[in-house]
Amino acid sequence: MLFISTENLKPGMILAMDIYIYNRETFKTLLLRKGQTLNITYINKIIFHNISGAYIKNQDNLDSANLWKEELEANLLPEIRDIFFKFKYNLEKIDTTCIRHISYLVDNLIIEIVNNKHLAYRTLEYNNYDDYIFQHCINVGILSISIGNTLGLNYKTLHELGISALLHDIGMMLIPLEILNKPEKLTHKESLIIREHPLKAVNKLKPFVSNDILMGIACHHEKINGTGYPYGLVGNEIHLFGKIISICDVYNALATNRYRGKSWNPIEIFQYINECNYFDYDILSVFLKNIIVYPLGNYVKLSNGKTAITTNINSDNVLRPTVQIINSDNTFGEVLDLMNNQNITITDKGHDFEYIVSSCLCGVKCRYDGKEITSEKIKKLVDEGKAIMVCPEVLGGMPVPRLPCEIKNNRVYTITSDDKTSYYISGAKKALEIAKKYGIKKAILKEKSPSCGSNHIYDGTFSRTLISGEGLTTKLLRQNGIEVISDEEYNND
Ligand code: SF4
Repeated sequence: MLFISTENLKPGMILAMDIYIYNRETFKTLLLRKGQTLNITYINKIIFHNISGAYIKNQDNLDSANLWKEELEANLLPEIRDIFFKFKYNLEKIDTTCIRHISYLVDNLIIEIVNNKHLAYRTLEYNNYDDYIFQHCINVGILSISIGNTLGLNYKTLHELGISALLHDIGMMLIPLEILNKPEKLTHKESLIIREHPLKAVNKLKPFVSNDILMGIACHHEKINGTGYPYGLVGNEIHLFGKIISICDVYNALATNRYRGKSWNPIEIFQYINECNYFDYDILSVFLKNIIVYPLGNYVKLSNGKTAITTNINSDNVLRPTVQIINSDNTFGEVLDLMNNQNITITDKGHDFEYIVSSCLCGVKCRYDGKEITSEKIKKLVDEGKAIMVCPEVLGGMPVPRLPCEIKNNRVYTITSDDKTSYYISGAKKALEIAKKYGIKKAILKEKSPSCGSNHIYDGTFSRTLISGEGLTTKLLRQNGIEVISDEEYNND
């Protein structure tokens, strides 16, 4: 079996394991059963539930020895989110119980990482854009424990490193949201406020955790050449935990394109980390030798023109993994170890989405009335891997079916006059994040919808009267330079 990340799932692939969803109380519900052949509806379900990927059957009979415990992965995000919000709103709750809870999470992470070398330097690929800070801390925790493990740290030290890394950015919870979410460049004064986050966290956590844990948090923005903050420490003045966490912090920010507003490809990330002169040489060497540049289950493009999926990491050269070719009918083809095929290189990530498209146009029953209006021409773009589906209203938290909504005075109301604007704004932001994540510059969206309409929308009287106007998602996408056309324009073209 192969782990395939959600954006790379294709109709026709067969699930090798059950997929569950988990709520905050760890209640477990079966979403899709092992053996199920995926179709667009099922893939969309996986997208809607923010599941990072699925295990898919291929010809080999790999067992599940190298899989994360799925419960652990599912529980990490809500647990960390809870602890961070307690820290923000109710410091008294950051007591020994909370630290014991973090400690328990770290114990489980260490067991997973120590027992599972294949996954040691893998990060989790969350698809929940509102939770960036928590996702980031989890991934930095995983990477830091992985480095610590490779460096041979004893259990107690590894455990403290894990806690420090999971909490390294908790001080960001104390930075005003208007600064954190500011889309424009920060002023000098605002940048200085952001730079206070390590010491703010240290001051608040002092009564609860060890000095080493505090030092990791305090030093995670220090740089070996003395240009970091808050103290401008040089070389070995920086605590070991700070040296480790700083590499993982920058790597994960680069990998999620959150660093310096640029979209980074794996080779650029690798080169930047290697050449920036910010990190301890010995720790960096361990990291670069082991980091999974091309995560397992992701599509890559090869220099021979074929698309393949990564199936194994070669620790002798992380830029040359073992891959399996994806045939044009989406079946799995030849396995190539790129260490033994030096004439073939990876040239890019495998997906090449040109458009985002409204899900309801592609066979997904996500409309307010639970129906879809499939456009074969638009669905074909998805089948060919050229488009990714979004339903902003479902992404924003609206159920299916739901009451019809229309826009009036720039607000979105149901037919019973409930104001649902916040759901529509949230869905629009998520659609924009997806477009940005994949560098998509074009959208084909369903005309007349209060989210997706691009030329006409209903006038807010629920009398089926159309007026000129655009839906909230269309508006936000256009404000961000994404060209939006309607399904009608595309179908008639
Ligand atoms: S028009 Fe847009 S928001 Fe409405 S159901 Fe279709 S994809 Fe979802």
